Amino acid sequence: MVVVGCGPAGSTAAQEAASQGASVLVLEKAKTVGEPVRCGEFLPSLEEIRHICAETKGLEDLFDLPPRILGRFIERARAYAPSGRTFEVDFQGHSIWRGRLDRYLARKAVDEGAELWTETPFLGFDNGDLVTPRTRVHGTVVIGADGPRSLVAREMGFPDHELLFPALSVSLSGSFDPVFEAYFGGVAPGGYAWVIPRLHDANVGLAVRPDLKQDPLRAALDTFLQARGLRATSRPTGGFVPMSGPLPTTARGNVLLAGDAAGHVLSTSGGGIFTAMICGRLAGRAAARFAAGLAPLEEYESAWRRVLGGAFERGWALFQMLAPSFDDPETLEEIFRLLGPEGLTAALRCQDLPVAEAVSLENPPTR
Ligand SMILES: Cc1cc2nc3c(=O)[nH]c(=O)nc-3n(C[C@H](O)[C@H](O)[C@H](O)COP(=O)(O)OP(=O)(O)OC[C@H]3O[C@@H](n4cnc5c(N)ncnc54)[C@H](O)[C@@H]3O)c2cc1C
Repeated sequence: MVVVGCGPAGSTAAQEAASQGASVLVLEKAKTVGEPVRCGEFLPSLEEIRHICAETKGLEDLFDLPPRILGRFIERARAYAPSGRTFEVDFQGHSIWRGRLDRYLARKAVDEGAELWTETPFLGFDNGDLVTPRTRVHGTVVIGADGPRSLVAREMGFPDHELLFPALSVSLSGSFDPVFEAYFGGVAPGGYAWVIPRLHDANVGLAVRPDLKQDPLRAALDTFLQARGLRATSRPTGGFVPMSGPLPTTARGNVLLAGDAAGHVLSTSGGGIFTAMICGRLAGRAAARFAAGLAPLEEYESAWRRVLGGAFERGWALFQMLAPSFDDPETLEEIFRLLGPEGLTAALRCQDLPVAEAVSLENPPTR
């Protein structure tokens, strides 16, 4: 089988399939796996992941990561409403070294027997074969784990993501509290700006809704940094975050999509690392079972929906419910107040809101 892309989704898919005896080739276009880093580098704690995931079997094993990858324990999150008023949110995790995580996961796949070709972009399908600059390859199953603008998905005629947020981040040195700060309002229209501390530095960035974006992203990030007296120590790197939840289908013919390619991202946070790892592993498992004649490939679709489908759906529904207020600072502020710490925590975890009726659009908040 062929896995396209060696990010968290591709590596976990390759590792799982290889561990079940499948012959696996991973195509990665980058020269070095995990470079350049395009990420806020926040990974929720196992406890948080358990709050979000319906099924917990095997999570310990998947997220048992060595200390050199886990930068710093983040004790909680703090949401800044447009006025600057703050709301403490019960949400823990780690700032991570993302490049190291991607290489660690790739190494695990190779140790399990997968073959990895770096500097080998997938260029398209030709008569069912995968075309690369090196050679053509054939896969009984193809797993498209090639990120938010997946060529595998496009070539197979999967629909585009409804909403792709452009996002940008930089590193900066300094001493920060162990708090994930998220700033809402004009600083990052429709999305948020973040400060995620590591041991001796922080990852700072922002993601915005494309139709509300006014300034170039780089200028918006500079404004955010200047307003806080922060100075970047790295060049900004950027990418896209699929915010509209999973595609209607993630299996077509002999092709499965996993991770960002499939839209496996939580719409209330833009977090997609742990979901990519979980869905990647399920894709690898389904592909191996199919290759061994044990199950139809479609089993993948129901597998990831069982584990994360509810969270993705609730996340996208919440996002749509709150989205109209994103360009109206006063309403946004009022919604934050109504939600309070409990509601904001539930939103971040893609759980049902304790005060859902109070913020429903049929019953807009009064000021
Ligand atoms: C700026 C930014 C900040 C973010 N911050 C966070 C965060 O703090 N926490 C979090 O959980 N999520 C965050 N995300 C989202 C998270 O990074 C993604 O959800 C996650 O990387 C998805 O993993 P993936 O394996 O599906 O895709 P990717 O990590 O994008 O991996 C795809 C791989 O495929 C390769 N590839 C692409 N095209 C081809 C091709 N044609 N041929 C071969 N290889 C190809 C790429 O080089 C890449 O290695 C952020 C995203 C952005 C853009």
